[in-house]
Amino acid sequence: MPVEPIDTMGRPIRDLRISVTDRCNFRCTYCMPKEIFNREYRFLERDLLLTFEEIERVAGVFSGLGVRKLRLTGGEPLLRRDLDVLVGALAGIAGVDDLTLTTNGSLLARRAAALAAAGLKRVTVSLDSLDDAVFAAMNDVGFPVQQVLDGIEAASAAGLTPVKVNAVIQRGVNDDGIVAMAEHFRGTGHILRFIEYMDVGHTNGWRLDDVVPAREIRERINARYPLQPIDAGYLGEVAQRWRYVDGAGEIGIISSVTRPFCRTCTRARISAEGMLYTCLFATAGTDLRVLLRGGASDTDLAAAVAAVWTARTDRYSEIRSEATVPLPKVEMSYIGG
Ligand code: SAM
Ligand code: SF4
Ligand code: SF4
Repeated sequence: MPVEPIDTMGRPIRDLRISVTDRCNFRCTYCMPKEIFNREYRFLERDLLLTFEEIERVAGVFSGLGVRKLRLTGGEPLLRRDLDVLVGALAGIAGVDDLTLTTNGSLLARRAAALAAAGLKRVTVSLDSLDDAVFAAMNDVGFPVQQVLDGIEAASAAGLTPVKVNAVIQRGVNDDGIVAMAEHFRGTGHILRFIEYMDVGHTNGWRLDDVVPAREIRERINARYPLQPIDAGYLGEVAQRWRYVDGAGEIGIISSVTRPFCRTCTRARISAEGMLYTCLFATAGTDLRVLLRGGASDTDLAAAVAAVWTARTDRYSEIRSEATVPLPKVEMSYIGG
């Protein structure tokens, strides 16, 4: 067994987020603004993307270094053809005990059963509003709420449970729908998670004033449906968890901006073209594809990843300031959420 690397802040590597495409059928204004991600934008060419075999190999190497949880993401991961074939391959990797997917839900209704059959354990579906006009303006392609809700129900019926539903909250955009969302998902068994709007990438024009702090989100829900805290489920869990006092389930609030959780951050990320990043807010990564395609052995790959992880100093959310906001960080649609 190779030694599991520990970074400079004592953090092991436990989660790997794998982006399978940088493309998306949505243009969420906070992630892929249309002015930038338009016809002129150069997405990755197909031959630059890691193949399923390469992804499986990388995931196997990471599992040997301590990774227990894999998450497929993107762009929109369900745009990658035959994704269930990749899921099947990843499900067979020894040591990985959680295999999940983050999706905008648009294609989930027809794919959930095949993904579950291939070995996917759970899904996280992003849905920012239940109001069609608000949601259409946020995804900026006019996509209707109901089709995402259908995807959530299909995932639930296929056993990809509990389904987590992620809502990014922006002040003045969708914050007036916070309580309505809580009301809708209470008692369904799905876990609604509110996410503070973050300064990922450098194209979304983020301003601190646009962030609705976790505390305010909680207070708004608590005023209508009283909440009480639940202990974190595991080391590195990013959401603060709250349960409804009346027993109607739980919610999570992810406060990357107002209450950073870098100290327990055990996540690595691989872009669709095989760049390794050790922070969501990274400005530079390490090219694993060049190793994969240059004849490196699994031992060579493991040594390269371990060297990167051992040197890791990331704690962006703790040191976020006016000065860090404009840094040329990689885009969320490229690195994967
Ligand atoms: N397309 C898929 C989706 O939307 O679920 C997967 C990729 S998306 C980049 C992953 C997650 O990142 C989504 O839940 C999305 O809402 C979130 N996200 C994107 N930009 C964000 C931002 N600026 N702040 C907070 N969350 C963001
Ligand atoms: Fe696409 Fe997800 Fe980004 Fe929205 S958040 S543009 S669905 S990648
Ligand atoms: Fe992890 Fe970077 Fe986020 Fe901190 S800012 S929690 S190090 S991804």
